[in-house]
Amino acid sequence: AASVFAYFAGENIDAIIIIIIVFINASIGFLQEFKAEKAIEALQKLLAPHARVIRDGKHISIPAGELVPGDLMVLSEGDKVSADCELFEENEILIDESILTGESMPVRKDTEKDNRLFMGTQIAAGTGKAIVTKTGMRTEFGKIAALTTETKKDKSPLQKELAHIGVFTGKITLGIALVLFLIGIFGRGQGIVETLLFAVAVAVAAVPEGLPTTITVALALGVQRLAKKNAIVKQLSSVETLGSTTVICSDKTGTLTKNEMTVQEMIIDEYDITAHGVGYEPRGGFSIHGYHSGSESEYLEYEKDSLHELAHKKPLLYEHFELMSRSAVLCNNAKLTEIEEQWKILGDPTEGALITLAEKAGFSVSGINQKHKRIHEFPFDSKRKRMSVIAQDEKTSALFSYVKGAPDSLLPLCTKIIKDGRVVSLDQKHLHEILKHNDALAAKALRIIAVAYKEMPKSPVGGKYIKESAESDLIFLGLVGMIDPPRDEVKEAVRLTHRAGIRVFIITGDHGLTAHAIAKQLGLVKTHGANIVTGEMLNEMSESKLLGFVAKGQETIFARVSPEHKLRIVNALKESGEVVAVTGDGVNDAPALKRADIGIAMGITGTDVSKEAANMILTDDSFSTIVTAVMEGRTIYENMKKFIYFIFSSNIGELLAVFSTILFGLPAPLTAVFLLIINTLTDVFPALALGVEPVERDILERPPRKPDSKIIQGAFLYRFLAAGIWKGLVTAAVFFGNLWVNGWRFGQDLNTDTYLYMQSATMAFVVLTLLQMVQAVNSRSLTVSVFRMKFFENLYLLAAIVFSTVATILIVQMPIFEKYLKTTALTLNQWLILTAAAMTILVFEEIRKAVFSRN
Ligand code: ATP
Repeated sequence: AASVFAYFAGENIDAIIIIIIVFINASIGFLQEFKAEKAIEALQKLLAPHARVIRDGKHISIPAGELVPGDLMVLSEGDKVSADCELFEENEILIDESILTGESMPVRKDTEKDNRLFMGTQIAAGTGKAIVTKTGMRTEFGKIAALTTETKKDKSPLQKELAHIGVFTGKITLGIALVLFLIGIFGRGQGIVETLLFAVAVAVAAVPEGLPTTITVALALGVQRLAKKNAIVKQLSSVETLGSTTVICSDKTGTLTKNEMTVQEMIIDEYDITAHGVGYEPRGGFSIHGYHSGSESEYLEYEKDSLHELAHKKPLLYEHFELMSRSAVLCNNAKLTEIEEQWKILGDPTEGALITLAEKAGFSVSGINQKHKRIHEFPFDSKRKRMSVIAQDEKTSALFSYVKGAPDSLLPLCTKIIKDGRVVSLDQKHLHEILKHNDALAAKALRIIAVAYKEMPKSPVGGKYIKESAESDLIFLGLVGMIDPPRDEVKEAVRLTHRAGIRVFIITGDHGLTAHAIAKQLGLVKTHGANIVTGEMLNEMSESKLLGFVAKGQETIFARVSPEHKLRIVNALKESGEVVAVTGDGVNDAPALKRADIGIAMGITGTDVSKEAANMILTDDSFSTIVTAVMEGRTIYENMKKFIYFIFSSNIGELLAVFSTILFGLPAPLTAVFLLIINTLTDVFPALALGVEPVERDILERPPRKPDSKIIQGAFLYRFLAAGIWKGLVTAAVFFGNLWVNGWRFGQDLNTDTYLYMQSATMAFVVLTLLQMVQAVNSRSLTVSVFRMKFFENLYLLAAIVFSTVATILIVQMPIFEKYLKTTALTLNQWLILTAAAMTILVFEEIRKAVFSRN
């Protein structure tokens, strides 16, 4: 519009230049946003679902897009079905087909009648194997809908606030410009051309043209930085929300701990057996300690090869140990491998630890698996907290059910126990004893698995295995306690959260005492008596009581909870006005992840479903990455405040300078072209550089900002108004000063074609750009003195200032610009005077900061 006005005003060159500037700005904006979007797209690709297939007999994970008909897909709970396929093996598989049918209850599939699985659906529970029949657009899903890769582009709260301000400023500006135009024409009887150009200058001065690009780029750079630090954020807006997080709800296993399990202690009959050695390497001995109620305790040491001595010395214990190891090995899906002299497990670390234990004791896992044929599995899920397997003894054809799980889930299913090699019925005394051992293990931060078994009837009822019959009337075998050491980096991260006023709740499926012991090791709870709230207690608990447990000042650990409880806890926290970040990895965690302000999924152990529901994915599963991301979010927000301050104070200065000449009926000191150059060119680079300022130490020590707080309000508003007014005054003073020095007096007319006007306008332009260069340095902190900051810390900013200053010098001094932009070359003296004038903003801001910090 400005260009069109200029054209009709007969200023053809101005009209073209305005178009060129707008074009350059749009190009810079486009290129930067394009780059940012490409980078984010590349991140999205990392998140693209993978499928597990068996090719050439090997289990491998491939991008879902590379599936072909005939592929053998391995499916387990939480997986997304990435092609149409047919099940040929399954264990209690339940499919969520809501995406196709709208039916929210998962449906049971089998290998006979109802064996078709469809792309886009999800495995809600169980496991299975299927053959791919159709892929891509040939699938049912493909037929129904053209596949769209949906990237969410919702605006962040700040972007919304600015859009709002943009509309508001736009309206006001149009209003003022219109009034000025009418006054100019009818009131003062000025020429239409002059009035038009003046109104256009006001409009250009009021609008921060470079701001939207700067914000998008700052957020996008933030997303890229986070990705380098192992946190992949799916929406730009999450970066900002992250910064206002007040509560983090974290899983324990794998997030706070390493998820590298090693069995340390076992309770078998009346013996406490300690296993030595670390990691998955099957090496290390055992110390055996008898409790023998009444008699004196005994202590025995064995190495792997000497364990057969135990068979002679204590045959009943040896047999019991063997039976327990066999049960744990058969009720297991993990595999132990040695890769380049490193022992690793494939599958669940909890199960891997049990395999290592058996090997350590010299019970060959492959031997056990050869002698027993696995017939059916009732898979583990975090609600049941147990798993069972039905296996047949190859020699005797006897059927057995082997069960392992959390003691409180397993014990109610046991009716018998082995004592001195004899199966006796499990009475209250036994139960009391077991629970005592259980608590003692948990207090040592051990994760506990109970093991049980029973013989099954030869043939199942109606040819089908029923969970209830495999998991009832069991014979209790013993407890296994495994250590899962805390992650090294988490302790420091916990310290950071304390300093930053962020509260942390552990929400775990594990035992309360285990979680408490780990929390103490990590410094997460300070008091001895942190509340431990279990899932069972939650079931009985009223909303108001729950609110009490999550209230400020409370230390609460949620243990033995199911994913449904997690949703309730998140709801309670949100109700208390907290900004909640929640971790989750399972299918059932999806609702809590969606409900939270920041849902966090685990990149390594997380299911596809949880990743889809989350806002952020941790590629290293670590708690400390969450804390890093929150701090990064805070930094980005603070940096955006800095460049918004920088840019808006510039606009205020421009407006004031432009208005200053109205009083005297003079043309604006800054033409629309000059203003556009400042707003879209010389201001933009320092603003972008302010967006990548290093973190200010005290940001991490402040309490989280209020989620509904606005940037442009209160003190912030006064600060940039004050700085803007100073800049406007200096610019106007330079303009009038130069007129005065050259003989112009108030009351006289001033023609825009005269050399004097052009020179004064050039000087106004130069002083305003230089003021902005100094202001860029001031804006590095809104409160801390420039002299207390490291000058060379942000090299981008220095480079941007040099670039913009050189651009200004060229625009003023080069003849070609003189001709088209109507600048006049300045003398060295003039440059020095203008530089000195620009420096006054430094003094002004330093005084403001000093007064501010005193108050
Ligand atoms: P978090 O929720 O913090 O990740 P978690 O991983 O301990 O904790 P779950 O995986 O739900 O939570 O496990 C809960 C309990 O179930 C464990 O304490 C353990 O006793 C038992 N358990 C875990 N894995 C298995 C498994 N593979 N087979 C049988 N029982 C298991």
